[in-house]
Amino acid sequence: MTDQATMNLVSFEDAVSRYDPLIGLETHVELGTLTKMFCGCPARFGGEPNSLVCPVCLGLPGSLPVTNRMAIEYTMKIGLALNCTIADTARFARKNYFYPDMPKDYQISQYDEPLCTDGWLDITVHDPAAGDEPRPFRVEIERVHLEEDTGKSMHVGSTGRIHGAEYSLVDYNRAGIPLVEIVTKPVAGTGALAPEVARTYVAELRDLLRALGVSDVRMEEGSLRCDVNTSLAPRGASAWGTRTETKNVNSLRSVARAVRSEIQRQAALLDAGQRVVQETRHFNEETGTTSPGRSKEEAQDYRYFPEPDLVPVAPSRDWVESVRAQLPELPGARRARLQREWGLSELDMAALRNAGALDLVAETIAAGATPADARKWWLSELLRTANKSGAELGDLPITPADVARVAQLVDSGVVNDRLAREVIEGVLAGEGTPDEVVTGRGLVVVSDDTALTAAVDEAIAAHPDVAEKIRSGKVAAAGALVGAVMKATGGKADASRVRELILGRLS
Ligand SMILES: [Zn+2]
Repeated sequence: MTDQATMNLVSFEDAVSRYDPLIGLETHVELGTLTKMFCGCPARFGGEPNSLVCPVCLGLPGSLPVTNRMAIEYTMKIGLALNCTIADTARFARKNYFYPDMPKDYQISQYDEPLCTDGWLDITVHDPAAGDEPRPFRVEIERVHLEEDTGKSMHVGSTGRIHGAEYSLVDYNRAGIPLVEIVTKPVAGTGALAPEVARTYVAELRDLLRALGVSDVRMEEGSLRCDVNTSLAPRGASAWGTRTETKNVNSLRSVARAVRSEIQRQAALLDAGQRVVQETRHFNEETGTTSPGRSKEEAQDYRYFPEPDLVPVAPSRDWVESVRAQLPELPGARRARLQREWGLSELDMAALRNAGALDLVAETIAAGATPADARKWWLSELLRTANKSGAELGDLPITPADVARVAQLVDSGVVNDRLAREVIEGVLAGEGTPDEVVTGRGLVVVSDDTALTAAVDEAIAAHPDVAEKIRSGKVAAAGALVGAVMKATGGKADASRVRELILGRLS
């Protein structure tokens, strides 16, 4: 069966009802050090092609690498934050293969003696589509090791790929930038949550790396890149099937989609009695499916051997402990603390995270709003607006201080909830601060009794039957008259005052 023929043959729900998925993630992170891994060249993004290079990162004969101390420290930071053991001795190794963007024909990496091993990252998985309760998950980390990045090839021609290119150019600016690889152990027992576990793990890891300040973790720019391994076993089987590795998935959403599509594709193959080929695959953003790349090399194909030009890395225990002492509050602990302080449920917190609203809500509370108000405005009105325009919440032209001010205007009775929504609309439309919008649009609540009493009397006169009910003691009927007054005043009346006036008139 061809790849094309297997697509969409098996629905995801059907696939996970009959097969157990096993996933694994390898994440590459470019470290934000000032200089490259083994030379003094600036480790920054961009720049004229081949301007940030020297004999070492170009692999010229006679040049010798020197290990970047800060890269070692950053890697230990990551390892410690992931609950890993930091090795007494770690060693660099040569991974031999030819690639035009790798001038030495080998990459300096770590093989059998990585710097950090055996850790874990706790995540909370919540699939809003499934409507499930958030579920805790522990993803075990096999290793965190350090290597150097390669350069970049650019294939010039209509396709942008090497096939059909007129010629290719290579830029070595990226060659030698420190790259950390974080490898999970295989994650079993996820069932239908596999795509969401993969996505949440990468999201949590990204937040962690950002909190550590070791990388700018931009997936779109490639400073965080993810390879996703997937395999299936029939329910209850004792052995796992062959795995595939989907390379360089570059957004959180794509991580989930890649897992999902591989599960469907492999289930269709297994259903047809075919075997899954061990290979690397490419994820196609447009179709949401994967296509075959090269067949997967085994470790022995790379002829690893210890790098003879570098001494082993042997961090002293004092150094390790001083790095541990510098760790900031990590995202998981911060969320648990905020949840306690704010008195929100696990589900509320999951909703805030999924919406990318956690920091915005924290800043809104810091600016004076109550946790309930901050959560309400960001998750209702503002999230709707963001979703409609396909923007991130943080990109909306409104600040947490603005939102706090809107909540305050409601609290002090200057505007009611309906008018507050208009205030927000005005701020988003660039009409100024919340106070300027209130003035500009004339949005102040009418609580002046003289104005309200006239409207109340009109409503009573227009609805004699309702008025009669209230007179006879059916106070609940007052809602209809309040509604009429609100309508007559364009929503600007103070509803609770209106109610008082109506009941006063009809008692
Ligand atoms: Zn260099």
